[in-house]
Amino acid sequence: MKVEIIQGDITKSHVDAIVNAANTTLMGGGGVDGAIHQAAGAKLDLACAKLQGCASGKAKTTLGYLLPAKWIIHTPGPIWQDGMHHEPEILKNSYLNSLKEAEKHQCQTVDFPSISTGVYHFPLKQAAQIALSTIINFKQQAHYIKRVRIVAFDIITKEVYQEVLEDLLQ
Ligand code: ADP
Repeated sequence: MKVEIIQGDITKSHVDAIVNAANTTLMGGGGVDGAIHQAAGAKLDLACAKLQGCASGKAKTTLGYLLPAKWIIHTPGPIWQDGMHHEPEILKNSYLNSLKEAEKHQCQTVDFPSISTGVYHFPLKQAAQIALSTIINFKQQAHYIKRVRIVAFDIITKEVYQEVLEDLLQ
């Protein structure tokens, strides 16, 4: 299983599954969530309404509808308060449960955004360490997944994830 960092727009990813940094209602919001709902079309809203929400750190899957990706794995990350409200543990669970969903749907290629580091204000470097260590540790359990990418929307996010990945692989 390869782990890569790229910069781009995750709604354009031609992969088996993209992960959505959703909110607990699963009804769409701002940031990457809004962009995914906009690009996937109204059928995604209908499918999400049927799921009846999702707890932070858990993950639920829909089709990708109008996206190039076959599946969308929706996971609400933690809202950063002060780091004393299980935020690191919840973020880890978002990555882990999303990877488990991807395996369940026999995905070979999975793209993640930087979960919780936008409107949810999780500190970027700590989020990158949790994201990448969780993904790297999942290698032993991965049967179908061959490649996981972090799709950073901005250059700072790309550079921080790249540095953390290099540190972890040393
Ligand atoms: P959260 O509420 O989990 O913090 P946000 O969507 O606010 O989610 O931000 C998460 C990350 O996703 C941020 O780095 C943001 O810049 C990024 N992002 C926003 N739109 C896109 C997109 N189309 N593709 C990839 N990443 C995106």
